[in-house]
Amino acid sequence: MNIHEYQAKEILKDYGVAVPDGIAAFSVDEAVKAAEKLKENGATLFVLKAQIHAGGRGKGRTVKSGAKGVMLCKTVEEVKEGAEKLLGDTLVTIQTGEEGKVVQRLYVTDGVDIQSEFYLGITLDRGTGQNVIMVSTEGGVEIEKVAEETPDKIVKEWIEPGQTLYPSQARRLAFALGLTGDAFKKAVKFIQALYKAFEATDASIFEINPLVLTPDNDVIALDAKINFDDNALFRHPELSELRDLTEENPLEVEAGKFNLNYIKLDGNVGCMVNGAGLAMATMDIIKLAGGEPANFLDVGGTANVETVKNGFRIILDDPNVKVILINIFGGIVRCDRVAGGVIEAVKDPEIAEKVKGVPIIVRLQGTNAEEAKEIIDNSDLNVISAVLLKEAAEEVTKAIAS
Ligand code: GDP
Ligand code: MN
Repeated sequence: MNIHEYQAKEILKDYGVAVPDGIAAFSVDEAVKAAEKLKENGATLFVLKAQIHAGGRGKGRTVKSGAKGVMLCKTVEEVKEGAEKLLGDTLVTIQTGEEGKVVQRLYVTDGVDIQSEFYLGITLDRGTGQNVIMVSTEGGVEIEKVAEETPDKIVKEWIEPGQTLYPSQARRLAFALGLTGDAFKKAVKFIQALYKAFEATDASIFEINPLVLTPDNDVIALDAKINFDDNALFRHPELSELRDLTEENPLEVEAGKFNLNYIKLDGNVGCMVNGAGLAMATMDIIKLAGGEPANFLDVGGTANVETVKNGFRIILDDPNVKVILINIFGGIVRCDRVAGGVIEAVKDPEIAEKVKGVPIIVRLQGTNAEEAKEIIDNSDLNVISAVLLKEAAEEVTKAIAS
């Protein structure tokens, strides 16, 4: 689960990580009030930041007003003008894709003087099964680019599961950033507090880019991206509340309600499969057949009428879908029951209407597969049965061509 920058910074602050003062705003009025409040507390420069679940805002522009997603503002009036431009407009950045994201929330922060910009990231290194903290002196730029072109500029420390971050490791990281004296001490403290927050919140990604050193030798998180491990969210009800569903794909949100593992893709062949491995294989088959999968959909172990119906609804809500391939392996769930479920689902008036002109290819293998094929073949619906994956693929190819 992703959260917004302002939410991330509030969490970090609670763990003693240094962040600039800031106030979230949902309207122009609130943005003005936020800036006035920061000014009362001594701010002489403000930063107005669009809150969307994507980075690259500083270099991004909004579609209508051409405004930057991160603006330095000298006066409250500038904050007001910026907020008017940003709110409701669509911000396109390198991370949002062409369609961009509508700005619905803003963050007004204290402007910080920057001496140097660094990168700091924490994530799980799946190769070693350990958390890894990465720092680089190349801050403010895309870390993927640094990793590609100058990988030696990224310094890493791994943490053994069950162990804590050792002070010596935090010192090595601060040293790698070229810091000395007071700045060094503050960086060590910063890294320790940040790692504590990472562990305590069961996060999967912390990215501070840039981490900055100020002329006063303060070490501050100027930006903060946090991603939580969904499987651990049940332990953190207060974090779950930070979810902003408007930032997520509506079909994926809908699928989540039915416990379906659905990920929207850009192709035209909808697929419904039980089991993630079979779903991946099915997507490969679709590609081999010359098609492009419209989605990944794992209906899980129980492919009953309800899950099949919900799967259809989600798949058919995507206007790109021209054909549907159902590939179910009947192990515990019997194929004849799944076949019955498919027929019943397709007869549902709401689904019947949407499925007009969309051929459905069904491949059922496993327990009672023959009975299942008979049920499909004997129905007078626009459903084509296939026994082998190869046959299913050929039917997909035919359906795309027609
Ligand atoms: P991103 O573009 O979405 O990653 O947004 P960031 O929060 O990283 O901001 C983009 C850039 O704006 C940063 O790399 C900084 O160069 C600049 N910036 C952000 N906040 C401040 C600030 O308080 N003071 C100054 N001088 N620059 C800032
Ligand atoms: Mn950033």
